[in-house]
Amino acid sequence: MCGIVGYIGFNQASDFLLDGMAKLEYRGYDSAGIAVIGPENVIKIQKKVGRLANLEAIVKADPNEGTIGIGHTRWATHGVPSTVNSHPHQSNNGRFTLVHNGVIENYEELKSEYLSDVTFKSETDTEVIVQLVEYFSNKGLETEDAFTKAVSLLDGSYALGMLDSEDEDTIYVAKNKS
Ligand code: GLU
Repeated sequence: MCGIVGYIGFNQASDFLLDGMAKLEYRGYDSAGIAVIGPENVIKIQKKVGRLANLEAIVKADPNEGTIGIGHTRWATHGVPSTVNSHPHQSNNGRFTLVHNGVIENYEELKSEYLSDVTFKSETDTEVIVQLVEYFSNKGLETEDAFTKAVSLLDGSYALGMLDSEDEDTIYVAKNKS
């Protein structure tokens, strides 16, 4: 099961993320992606199926500038290996962006209980988590509380990293089994 890297600091996050992901390549993966909070608090996501070198080429051609970010190498469990299904995944309002290693066993139940009105972009179990964070944020919870609430509903294995585009100082993390 693949890998996650996060960076907050004074340097370009993408350099650190890609270096860290290269160190995790030995674990195996089918796709890779990064998300960085850039100018005007817009989160830029770049992802690509196949080798990390494919992603590195994209980032080299179109630098992802910013000093906080998350990176992910995926080993698909739900949804085919594809660029759309690769991580990071983003909530529909663009505010929350998340990477996940592991398997969410109750994602279908969570979809039908909380997210029946949401249009999903991917086939992954993971996207449910980030859409749930948006759901609870829209109910008025602060981000940490929305994240904690969403995580409390998950059954299965997970290591998570999440960005909030409105907060350049925090990566939200949680883990269980993974
Ligand atoms: N279950 C998730 C997916 O299929 C995460 C897989 C992983 O651990 O990389 O996208």
